[in-house]
Amino acid sequence: MGETQVHASAALLIEHSSEPGSQFCISWDTVIFKVEDGLFRVPLHGFIQSSDVFAAMFSLPKGDESKQEDGTEGHSAANPIVLEGYLKEDFLALLKVLYPMFSDVMAGRFKMTKTEWISALKLSTVWGIHEIRQWAIKELSSSVSALTSLEKIEYGRAHKVSKWLVEGISAIVIEDGPEGLSARDLARKVGIETAYQIMTIRACRLGIPGLSVHGGGPHLSGNIGLIQCPSCSSTFFGDAPCWGCKRNVSVTDGSINVFFPTAPELRGDSNGDVKAWVKIDPSGMKCVKCAKHPPQPSHPPCSACGYIPPNDTAVLGGATGEGFIDRMVREAFKEEIDEYEMAGDIHVES
Ligand SMILES: [Zn+2]
Ligand SMILES: [Zn+2]
Repeated sequence: MGETQVHASAALLIEHSSEPGSQFCISWDTVIFKVEDGLFRVPLHGFIQSSDVFAAMFSLPKGDESKQEDGTEGHSAANPIVLEGYLKEDFLALLKVLYPMFSDVMAGRFKMTKTEWISALKLSTVWGIHEIRQWAIKELSSSVSALTSLEKIEYGRAHKVSKWLVEGISAIVIEDGPEGLSARDLARKVGIETAYQIMTIRACRLGIPGLSVHGGGPHLSGNIGLIQCPSCSSTFFGDAPCWGCKRNVSVTDGSINVFFPTAPELRGDSNGDVKAWVKIDPSGMKCVKCAKHPPQPSHPPCSACGYIPPNDTAVLGGATGEGFIDRMVREAFKEEIDEYEMAGDIHVES
């Protein structure tokens, strides 16, 4: 113990003389943390150097409420410093980054799994370990870890990474739902409010006037006149009574009279335009009043040219170029993004 002290204080002096704030920077002291039921005796310096939270914790005068000499918290297995509410596996992952094996580092093969990086990200965020947080974000953003759009939203929110939130949402707006997610599934995964915002951005992105978000889904809704023939580009349906409630579903009156249970599918064409395609068979379109299928027949022909579109899909009017999704997403989620950006920089609470 005595000898350790000598080494520690020698190092202390050197550090102290060059940089006054860093008197704790080099020390071979260890401390015992308890995480769940696990006891970890770890070198203290990595924690103190990297985290303001731990630096503050250990800069408190030692043992002022002193029990016995060696009864100081963290000095014995009987009296460890309890890190309450954290998981062992997360803590182990953090230790792995904080104290990597020199042989791995030298051979350039320091590696962690995606799960371990997420654990390291979680704790580095909570404890304000900025460098490890940035490193984890970089690793998890790389193609090796390849987060899905939904994971980006989930982890972006859980660990306050605004970049992932924006990327995840933008991707879903463009992809029109990863892995064919229905609007309902999307709402379940990201929350109803976010799903609505995504649907709204999609509608705005398409630049389709009169297209809005219909409750209970969410679904996009609009006037049946928005549906255009893929062949002749005129309005696909003519005025007709609703099959269910018999009211007139007018193509021209501009009222919102149909909704699309399945989100439109966005497809680019050879000119670089992006168009939304909707199902025009009975499964793809419903009357907003009675929720029945308005123009009845399966495989309906175009009322203007008689064309029968393959797969029963027709185009939703309007198209908007790329480039403004990012702005739309940042506007729609501004508060959340601001909060995360601030938290990522100066998050220091435990
Ligand atoms: Zn109806
Ligand atoms: Zn036509």
